[in-house]
Amino acid sequence: MNAIAPIDECLDMIIVGAGISGIGMAVHMQRDCPDKRFAILERRDQIGGTWDLFRYPGIRSDSDMHTLGFSFAPWKHEKSIADGPAILDYLNDIADQYDLRRRMRFGQKVISADWDSKTARWTLICEQDDGSRQQLQARRQGKRQPAQIGQATREKQNQIQTHPASPAQGGGQGQKAG
Ligand SMILES: Cc1cc2nc3c(=O)[nH]c(=O)nc-3n(C[C@H](O)[C@H](O)[C@H](O)COP(=O)(O)OP(=O)(O)OC[C@H]3O[C@@H](n4cnc5c(N)ncnc54)[C@H](O)[C@@H]3O)c2cc1C
Repeated sequence: MNAIAPIDECLDMIIVGAGISGIGMAVHMQRDCPDKRFAILERRDQIGGTWDLFRYPGIRSDSDMHTLGFSFAPWKHEKSIADGPAILDYLNDIADQYDLRRRMRFGQKVISADWDSKTARWTLICEQDDGSRQQLQARRQGKRQPAQIGQATREKQNQIQTHPASPAQGGGQGQKAG
């Protein structure tokens, strides 16, 4: 069994994969939560996922890029059904524009991700190309202690149950449900 280095880092968030999903998530994090520490773990050496991995001639999107692309980076190419290299360029441009590469850690294959309710933390184990393994953690956000989650959830449920039923639901105004 490979030795695992001790946990040396706890981030606010960990994104697994630098494909279109991970890149989109990272942009939202960077824009909306600039004070949060996060990393993107990618097992390959490049970004793009599908659009970097597959290089066969004629590879293209199935749907139009106005739909597949991001709202924060509208697709401006002439062809809306785009070929693979154009999509990869699009993703690389976004990574540069939002300075995402400094967040990316390549050659990191996530082999496990475990949640611990007591500490409210994820622990991930990553394997590098040489077989060495590293652990890192991400903590749950917010100031509430895990024990308080149940109470908060109950309060939320009460709010939902006591909210006046809307006419569309067939309930009378001001009536309490349940
Ligand atoms: C020819 C073709 C056309 C397509 N057209 C469309 C389309 O028009 N519309 C559409 O919605 N979808 C389409 N798809 C599907 C397409 O794959 C997805 O839409 C999209 O690219 C998926 O992005 P993703 O980031 O979720 O996953 P991926 O592109 O698969 O990226 C995942 C990334 O995570 C990394 N990764 C995976 N596991 C680990 C791990 N354990 N540790 C670390 N890193 C890891 C991978 O290396 C990869 O870089 C198409 C696919 C193909 C092949």
